[in-house]
Amino acid sequence: MPDNERHADVIVVGAGPGGSAASYHLARHGLRVLLLEKTEFPREKVCGDGLTPRAVKQLIRMGVDTSPEVGWLRNRGLRVIGGGVRLELDWPELASFPGYGLVRTRLDLDDALAKQAVKVGAELRTGVTVTGPLLDGAGRVEGVTAQLPEGGQGEFRAPLVIAADGVSGRLPLALGLAKRTDRPMGVAVRRYYASPARHDDDYLESWLELRSREGGDNLLPGYGWIFGMGDGRVNVGLGVLNSSAAFGRTNYRTMLTDWLTSTPAEWGLTEENAEGKVLGAALPMGFNRVPHYTRGLMLVGDSGGMVNPFNGEGIAYAMESGELAAEIAVQALARPAGPGRERALGQYSAELRARYGGYYRLGNVFVKVIGNPHLMRIATRHGMPHPTLMRFVLKLLANLTDPRGGDAMDRIINALTRVAPAV
Ligand SMILES: Cc1cc2nc3c(=O)[nH]c(=O)nc-3n(C[C@H](O)[C@H](O)[C@H](O)COP(=O)(O)OP(=O)(O)OC[C@H]3O[C@@H](n4cnc5c(N)ncnc54)[C@H](O)[C@@H]3O)c2cc1C
Repeated sequence: MPDNERHADVIVVGAGPGGSAASYHLARHGLRVLLLEKTEFPREKVCGDGLTPRAVKQLIRMGVDTSPEVGWLRNRGLRVIGGGVRLELDWPELASFPGYGLVRTRLDLDDALAKQAVKVGAELRTGVTVTGPLLDGAGRVEGVTAQLPEGGQGEFRAPLVIAADGVSGRLPLALGLAKRTDRPMGVAVRRYYASPARHDDDYLESWLELRSREGGDNLLPGYGWIFGMGDGRVNVGLGVLNSSAAFGRTNYRTMLTDWLTSTPAEWGLTEENAEGKVLGAALPMGFNRVPHYTRGLMLVGDSGGMVNPFNGEGIAYAMESGELAAEIAVQALARPAGPGRERALGQYSAELRARYGGYYRLGNVFVKVIGNPHLMRIATRHGMPHPTLMRFVLKLLANLTDPRGGDAMDRIINALTRVAPAV
């Protein structure tokens, strides 16, 4: 690799949705972007593959054609199952977000988003594993070291580095930015099953109570989903929050198969229809790694713990923070290096707090409440029979409101997030 290809205006580490979104928006503003990714595309990522209207909005902002003709499966809302009730809630009609969600495997999605970044000029280097930051004499990040695909170590230099390296967050860790243990954390597992009966679904399906037939009718800790993939398969999974007594003490893989024994036989969610293993990963929530900007390094998406504590959604927030990081980087890099540039970069942390801080604070409280099975059962039993209340809950949990000119529900949610002190 020629030496001049190792210099850029911005280095982005990790080509998940956060890194590709950041790269796309940086490149669109004419900056030279190096997007370094350790894997080769297409590659799998453990995920539910569900995209709410929030994520769809970000895809549109990246110029992605989300029409069904090019393979996107649309959904019209969320089906919630719990408390003996099955409720179909359409996505709210809003000025700020499209009225549909999508489902797409991460195998396809992440590949498509990386290609979109390349299309507008970002330089993607796959097979490059970033091993650590390069620091100048003052301890400011001025690039990264990496394991190169051809073998050996290399150095990549830029005045700004964006860590979009996912939940492991090796790069921020190397700068001493550890996960905060006082923030919510989840673990989720998922598996694909061939299910002609369930693969074509125009709702994302969410289970508030999981039961097992093994040894009687047992209530399992955690929440589940069944998302039809439209290709003969379903993505089935469950998540457990660290506010639950079962967190870290349960075999989540066994729990998934236990739950599925209680689903109707015609859905075919059995071992012989399973594709691959049950795979799992952590969900870093509610800003569990801060500060989001320090010493030449910005954190985007899971690297900065940005999963929504209310619903476990992370793709939209990775892409939104990627776009915000890009906007701020463009302004900062137009200034000479020094205090003025640092002031501009510091806005990234401040703006993230302003946008999500109050909402995540409420989410952190929510996680504590639903970690108590007794309280959760009361909420499910009393909430589910009331569709209007549940429409409100959907707006709150999916963070889908209009900031201005919305309805009464929007105004209540917006007011609550404004009065909650930012995390
Ligand atoms: C089981 C499960 C189900 C989920 N379901 C959903 C869902 O349905 N909808 C939703 O919105 N969210 C869901 N999430 C959350 C979602 O997957 C994440 O929030 C999202 O992927 C975050 O995107 P990201 O770009 O920040 O990080 P990632 O998608 O994790 O991307 C990080 C990238 O960085 C690369 N990388 C890491 N380290 C290095 C390195 N050292 N050098 C170079 N490259 C590196 C990785 O290979 C990867 O490509 C789920 C999570 C789990 C675990």
